[in-house]
Amino acid sequence: MQRPYNFSAGPAAMPNEVLQQAAAEMLDWHGSGMSVMEMSHRGPQFGSILAQAEADLRELLAIPADYHVLFMQGGALAENAIVPLNLSRGAKADYVVTGSWSQKSQLEARKFCDVHLAASTHDTTGYGLIPPLDMWNPRHDAQYLHYCANETIDGVEFHVAPTQFSLPLVADMSSTILSRPIDVAAHACIYAGAQKNIGPAGLTLVVVHRDMLGHALPSCPSAFDYGVVAKNGSMYNTPPTYAIYVAGLVFQWVKRQTEDALRGIAAIAERNRKKADLLYACIDASELFTSRVARECRSRMNVPFFLRDESLNDAFLQGTQQRQLLQLKGHKSVGGMRASIYNAMPLAGVQALVDYMHEFERSH
Ligand SMILES: *Cc1c(COP(=O)(O)O)cnc(C)c1O
Repeated sequence: MQRPYNFSAGPAAMPNEVLQQAAAEMLDWHGSGMSVMEMSHRGPQFGSILAQAEADLRELLAIPADYHVLFMQGGALAENAIVPLNLSRGAKADYVVTGSWSQKSQLEARKFCDVHLAASTHDTTGYGLIPPLDMWNPRHDAQYLHYCANETIDGVEFHVAPTQFSLPLVADMSSTILSRPIDVAAHACIYAGAQKNIGPAGLTLVVVHRDMLGHALPSCPSAFDYGVVAKNGSMYNTPPTYAIYVAGLVFQWVKRQTEDALRGIAAIAERNRKKADLLYACIDASELFTSRVARECRSRMNVPFFLRDESLNDAFLQGTQQRQLLQLKGHKSVGGMRASIYNAMPLAGVQALVDYMHEFERSH
């Protein structure tokens, strides 16, 4: 069956093979007679699923041994509080604002610590660039510097991590993780909600250096204390078992893209670059469609674009429905269109969108 191309920003499209495998194993996982969602999280079967998922993720992202991988809940918005609860010591924390998500992060952190914006592009015309790094002014005595690697709503992406400041770096990688190689060792803490590029909503991944643990504020809920979660192998409370299982299937799918896992991520990154290049080339060559993001920081995962004549928006979206191109409407705060082209979106899906855009421009 040919499924539609789904451009949702999240929860987002999953690889077909992963959905098929999950369906095949739904009633009876590996002869256990149980669905994964019916298993005790403390039993040997789920234990093996969790261990395999962690091992595969470590291999894919080349996560050094002195980092913990935590399988948590609450999503990236909960991490906006969990990060300062664990890492700020109630003192100073610096944030860089490049879009809607990092703006939310810094606002939430103000509940727990003294926040300073080391750089910000907030203005009335919307987000569309990364402030030049030599204009950033982080405080030397901040506990960490937080940035959002890819602004899912605004389409602004750091293609290189901002590592030149001698502060522990914390990154929201919700829509970046698994899309390309990541320099984990350059970061003190990386977090990501799963529902963009990893799997079902409900799982939040945290990769945190062991030296960052043990300084949670006394008011930090135990289930959100990185040290407690790490000590209990992500089993302090019941983890989102089924979401972890599906994420594990996605890790295996990424590994299958080439014969060795690290190259699997490189292969995925190359495919993602091709997909994004195809779409931006169409937008840039067009008289009708336009991008508002500076070229050097255009996201390879989320491509917001606008029709110069916004009265055509409804007609454009109607045509996408007929062509089985789903969920292309832009975020309500930005308007226009947004094509999210995560790992599970094949090049053929982007080609189908580009073909339709050409056709629409010719007829309007
Ligand atoms: C989706 C997203 C969020 C919000 O995630 P929730 O799981 O809804 O909390 C935060 N940051 C980024 C970069 C995102 O893409």
